[in-house]
Parts: sequence; C-alpha cells; structure tokens
Amino acid sequence: MNICGLGISGSYLLRRLSDLGFQVKGYDPKRPGYYIPCGYATNENNMKEFCRQINVEFEDYIVSRAENVIISGDNFPEQTFRGSGLCTFDKNRFELDLVKGMNYSTERFTGNSELSLDCSGISRALLGKTIDDYTMNAIEYLSENSGHDNFYFNFYRNGTGYFWEFPMGDKYHVGAGGIDQNENMRRLEGFQKILVTGRRIRLKPLFENICLPNVIGIGESIGCVSPITGEGIVPSLRSAEIFVECARKSEDFSELSANYSSRIIKEFARYEGLHRMVLSMQSGRVLTFNNLKYAMTALNEIRDFGIDVKARSILLHFAGFS
Ligand SMILES: Cc1cc2nc3c(=O)[nH]c(=O)nc-3n(C[C@H](O)[C@H](O)[C@H](O)COP(=O)(O)OP(=O)(O)OC[C@H]3O[C@@H](n4cnc5c(N)ncnc54)[C@H](O)[C@@H]3O)c2cc1C
Repeated sequence: MNICGLGISGSYLLRRLSDLGFQVKGYDPKRPGYYIPCGYATNENNMKEFCRQINVEFEDYIVSRAENVIISGDNFPEQTFRGSGLCTFDKNRFELDLVKGMNYSTERFTGNSELSLDCSGISRALLGKTIDDYTMNAIEYLSENSGHDNFYFNFYRNGTGYFWEFPMGDKYHVGAGGIDQNENMRRLEGFQKILVTGRRIRLKPLFENICLPNVIGIGESIGCVSPITGEGIVPSLRSAEIFVECARKSEDFSELSANYSSRIIKEFARYEGLHRMVLSMQSGRVLTFNNLKYAMTALNEIRDFGIDVKARSILLHFAGFS
C-alpha cells in the first residue's frame, strides 16, 4: 500500500499501519526544514487518543496551552471562555518523529497499480481536481508580537473568514483565512514576521468521490476540515483511524472502499449542513431553516476544538441574528 503525502494523516497512517504489520510505503517531497503552513492549534484531549494508538506521548509536543480563549466577531464583542483542551503543539517535529525509521521516500508520488491512500491534503494529487471544490485563502506569520496574550479568534462578518492569534511558546502564530486575500492581508498589517507561510484551505466535504479504483482519500483531500473553525488536524486523524478500522476488517478493495466511504459520510455528515450555513451567511440569506438547525452544531465545532464556549451571542451569530 502507498501513502501519498506525509502530513498529519499520512505520517500517522505510515506509523499506525506499519505497527499493525501492513506493507506500506510513504511519499512526500517536502524539503528538509519546511515549515508547515498551519496554526498548530488542536485539542490535546482528542490528540491524546490518537497518540495512544501509536505509542506517542502527545504531552512531549505541546508548546502552549489555552487557559483562556477570546472570541470576537466583526458584529459581536469580545468574550472570554475557558480553554478545554485547546493548545498549540510542535507539528513539524511531531510529523517528522512519526515517520522516523519508517519506509518512505522524498519523491513526489503520482500513483501506480497498488492501493494508494491520497493523504495529499489540498493537492488531491491522486483524486484529482473537482469542480465542486470550495477553498479559502489563508496566510500566517510566525511573529514575535500579537494583539493578545491569550488564544484569540475574530470572525469576519457574514462567515467570510476569521483572524487568529495562537501563542507558540514565546512567539505567536498570527493568521487570517478568508475568501478575500486583500482582507486577510489587511488584518495582518503591523504584525512583525519571522516567517510567512500560507496556502488555500478546503472548507467543504467532497464526499461524492471519496474513492477511485485503487485510491482512497483521507483527510483534507476529501474535505475533512471543519467548515466553521478550519480545524483539520483532528478530523484528518479521525478519517485515518476510520480507514485503519475498515482495513483491518476487509482486504477486498470494493468492500473496504464501500465501508470506508459510508463510515466517513456518517461521521462527517454535519459538514454538509455547516458548509451550506456558511454559504447562506455569505450571501446575506440569514435565518434560514438550515442556519437555525446548524447553529448549535457550529457551536459544538468550537467546543470540539477545545473551547468551553457558552454564549448566546455566538450562537446568534451563526443563526444569522447578528
Ligand atoms: C494557514 C492554515 C492554518 C491552519 N490552522 C489549523 C489549526 O490551527 N488547527 C487545525 O486543526 N487545522 C488547521 N489547518 C488545517 C490543517 O492544517 C489541515 O486540514 C490538515 O493538516 C490536513 O491534513 P492532511 O493529512 O489531510 O494533509 P496535510 O497535512 O496538508 O499533508 C499533505 C501532504 O501531502 C504532500 N503532498 C502533496 N502532493 C504530494 C504528492 N504528489 N506526492 C507526495 N506527497 C504529496 C504535501 O507535501 C503535504 O506534506 C490550517 C490550514 C491552513 C492552510
């Protein structure tokens, strides 16, 4: 089996499947010292569950924990909540450590006749481009300064993106993701930059074609990214672990791909409604039945990221009242 891409889901799968005795080879052309474009924020409680499966101490990779988290919006004031697992971690070292001693190559992978897992994230290197894709621009600085000492989120008006500041030890990841790159750049004005990274982020589930003959999509390649928070680390690992469970039950490709696809659609069914909610917020069509139905789900996405959010105003923002 081949693993195309050794980001979060691919490096996890290379380690996990090798430990289970599967014959696997990973591929990723990342150059040494590459700084991954990502906020590196995650929920440590969720990460610890995955790390247990591969005998890794997640604690060793945590950089900063969120005691308090400030959430604000262009149309609602700052509010502070307790962190409930939100932290930043050393994602670069984590991914490198997972593949240490494993069978992998630094070549770009283009596919062969064997079963291959498309873990190439935004690239969809094996699954290919699709017209129903939906992505936003995202840019981030590693910075020595930040507007807040705590973890900070500022949601743009009408679901068009958000700005973040995440402590990383004595530095910060300060970033902006949204449909308008000029707006993102405007939000980052005045921040000092040690490093600049960025790429597009997929914010829509692509579950029509999760699998092709001999290819199975995992993680961001099939849109396992929260349409509300842009959280993709834990969702990608969830999809990877679903693949592991299915692969342990069946060696037959048709059975494996059918089981995996239906499990993914079930696990991430809410992403379809959340994506529709974001689109209707952007077009100014608020107070739709769908928005009301998914406002609480949107709040749960923020909770799952590790923030103990309890606020009517944030709920109302997603329902379209403010
Ligand atoms: C600016 C930004 C900030 C973000 N912040 C957060 C955050 O704070 N928390 C969070 O949970 N999520 C965040 N995300 C989302 C998260 O980073 C991704 O959704 C997640 O890493 C996707 O995991 P993955 O395994 O699917 O793919 P990735 O981790 O993106 O890995 C894909 C890998 O595939 C490789 N690749 C591509 N083409 C080929 C090929 N042909 N052959 C071999 N290898 C190939 C790439 O080099 C890359 O290493 C952020 C995203 C962006 C862009």
